[in-house]
Amino acid sequence: MYRCNVCEAEFSEPKTTKDPVPYGSREVTYPGVSCCPFCGGDFEEVQICELCGETFTESKHNGVCDSCISIVVNRHSELLKTNFTPFEIAILNSALDGRNIQ
Ligand SMILES: [Zn+2]
Ligand SMILES: [Zn+2]
Repeated sequence: MYRCNVCEAEFSEPKTTKDPVPYGSREVTYPGVSCCPFCGGDFEEVQICELCGETFTESKHNGVCDSCISIVVNRHSELLKTNFTPFEIAILNSALDGRNIQ
């Protein structure tokens, strides 16, 4: 999946063109260059989040967007705070060896 940086359209196949395409106020020719099929603009590759279905460009975790990661991390944190005392959380942190939970 790709998303246009100019018109924000999403598409699966970029257009490869030798024709002049409108770009802003000018008509510009990109010889054999990939561009947005709708406006001819620049585009970037995006992924679709497996949790919320939104598109995103970067993530620390494959397939899930940053906002979903922080929601899951916050829920995990809330779960710990409501079910464990701070002392038990400290025990968990050392028991889970390097996987730091707060
Ligand atoms: Zn576009
Ligand atoms: Zn998401």
